[in-house]
Amino acid sequence: MTTATRTTAARPQNREAGTATQGYAAESATTPLGPFQFERRVPGPTDVQIEILFCGVCHSDLHQARDEWGGTTFPVVPGHEIVGRVTGVGNQVTRFKAGDLAGVGCMVDSCGTCTDCKDGLEQFCTRELTFTYNSPDPHTGAVTYGGYSSHIVVDERFVLRVSDKLDPATAAPLLCAGITTYSPLREWKVGPGQKVGIVGLGGLGHMGVKLAHAMGAKVVLFTTSVDKIADARRLGADEVVVSRNPDEFTPHANSFDFILDTVAAPHNLDDYTALLKRDGTLCLVGAPSQPHPTPSVTNLIFRRRRIAGSLIGGIQETQEMLDFCAEHGIGADIELISIQEINDAYERMLKSDVKYRFVIDLKSLEREGSAAG
Ligand code: NAP
Ligand code: ZN
Repeated sequence: MTTATRTTAARPQNREAGTATQGYAAESATTPLGPFQFERRVPGPTDVQIEILFCGVCHSDLHQARDEWGGTTFPVVPGHEIVGRVTGVGNQVTRFKAGDLAGVGCMVDSCGTCTDCKDGLEQFCTRELTFTYNSPDPHTGAVTYGGYSSHIVVDERFVLRVSDKLDPATAAPLLCAGITTYSPLREWKVGPGQKVGIVGLGGLGHMGVKLAHAMGAKVVLFTTSVDKIADARRLGADEVVVSRNPDEFTPHANSFDFILDTVAAPHNLDDYTALLKRDGTLCLVGAPSQPHPTPSVTNLIFRRRRIAGSLIGGIQETQEMLDFCAEHGIGADIELISIQEINDAYERMLKSDVKYRFVIDLKSLEREGSAAG
């Protein structure tokens, strides 16, 4: 997600010639993604250089490649669910060495000194938050380019350890879809004895179902897709509500402690606030480009219900989530694609036709030539 504005001066820029990098970019909001060559910065003392093995395809990639949120800088190289092998480290790096498996999520830098950063909530840094792509790059003065590419250079503070217990391809979506659902489930202390709703069975939603189930909650999945009912149960849902059938909501009125809404399109929130218990929370993580219809105030005030939002998660919590997933054997359910299939994948994502995350095998970039050497 790219919403922050920078308010401080950028750090000294490294204009040394960088490393040739092969990627895939959209040149405008209406052009398909295609091959694109650019340079990564020369690794500095605190940098980790990573050969990208796999990159998940988030709906936020599509929103930004098509400039649906406004403010995309073109060409844009999307991708913020990155898992790869460390190929080199700067001389001050202590936590990584060549050969390690490593992950990079939605952020690659922040000021490190504000209250949000000190609280481990770098995603809320308003001074110098740098997203993995489509963000002003304090190192180069240009724009950041993401994980649809052969390799990346990232400050050690924003590199995650990925356990060898995890399959690197199914671990990639944890870096965004995983943490974006894990963080609110933890913030609202989801656990045994609670009834939790997950709205939408896409990339985020299917991770929400798996994680809420692993945390011990009773999980109800809300879907518009009848053909996902069996999968939802296999992934950990105790019950499934087909949201196109209003009658299916009635038995659940006033019964939920927490509902996590991952839907990427505007819809009626009152259907869900009406299902919350007194003091229950509907947390929105889906970020449609158009607003939802205004929710009913009455629905909220008579049961002190809340509507909240949540943005990815901090670096420490992302590591905690990766370790939780390694311990519980949790990865994403993926469809592995080549980079050449990315435009078809976007079209299928728009039709809610993905089970349940596309992941790009970056080996397929070799077909585009060898800028990366
Ligand atoms: P996705 O894989 O496309 O899943 C979205 C799901 O929403 C679909 O599979 C579908 O599930 C449901 N859906 C789609 N259109 C719908 C409609 N018109 N009405 C009702 N349900 C609909 O997308 P994703 O990658 O999970 O991302 C979801 C949203 O979260 C995007 O807007 C993305 O930008 C945002 N996001 C936010 C954060 C954050 O930090 N807050 C982080 C990452 C992504 P069913 O078929 O089950 O109905
Ligand atoms: Zn994402």
